[in-house]
Amino acid sequence: MRPISQLISKPLPLKLSRIARIAGRFVLDLAIPPACLSCDERVLETGALCPSCWQQLRFIAKPYCAVLGTPFAFDLGPGIVSAQAIASPPPYEMARAAVLYDEVARRLVARLKYEDRPELAGVLGRWMARAARDAGPDFLSGNPVVVPVPLHRWRLLRRRYNQAALLAREVSDRLALEFQPLALDRIRKTHQQVGLSRRERADNVRGAFRANPGGTMQISGRPVLLIDDVLTTGATLEAATRACLRAGAANVRVLTFALVSDPRGSEAEGLLSETGKIDL
Ligand SMILES: [Zn+2]
Repeated sequence: MRPISQLISKPLPLKLSRIARIAGRFVLDLAIPPACLSCDERVLETGALCPSCWQQLRFIAKPYCAVLGTPFAFDLGPGIVSAQAIASPPPYEMARAAVLYDEVARRLVARLKYEDRPELAGVLGRWMARAARDAGPDFLSGNPVVVPVPLHRWRLLRRRYNQAALLAREVSDRLALEFQPLALDRIRKTHQQVGLSRRERADNVRGAFRANPGGTMQISGRPVLLIDDVLTTGATLEAATRACLRAGAANVRVLTFALVSDPRGSEAEGLLSETGKIDL
């Protein structure tokens, strides 16, 4: 039997190390002033953008296409659908995004995805939840279950976390909706979508997703709110939508942080190829 002194002396160093850690964090907070989430310029509080980045970020507000959520230049009344949505209707019921994909949005997404900044999901997810609420009661009707677009497990191992799942958790918390992070599996590793045509993108992700048996039970007969970081041509979200519908989802609505309003436009192509890694 060990002497009592040995048993009680054990927790002490642990406690001390914890105090030291907390004190260290406090000192660190004092030493490193809060920085802009996008450009690292000094700001007054943590988790904020500097005035310049804030002004550049283009939040999406009505009027927009009732299906795709792409902004209209003029308000033609509620329920107006864009020519694009009529020409090729997506399998999802509607899509909404918080911001347009511009330089600031690109930096925020890149930091969340590749620079190990998972805390950014808190801010981006908050804006997404607001966009979902602003979309009107139809968008959240039927108590949808929140499901992220999954990463392939190899990519998940390399990146440690799925940015879409972090955003989805934040959205589900804020909207008090059920969160099912593992409902879908990515059963096929896909190539990067950058530089591919619309048709090639669709071919690349076709059949890439499947609801697993647990996921099928979770989403069968219910509306699904499918979450990803960026919507470009919609090929990935369309493939993930079809997987939900095959599993019996009542319908699928899509919510992303950013939306590329014209994926073929020169501005969007420049931003996407610059990132070079965007997996859409
Ligand atoms: Zn900034």
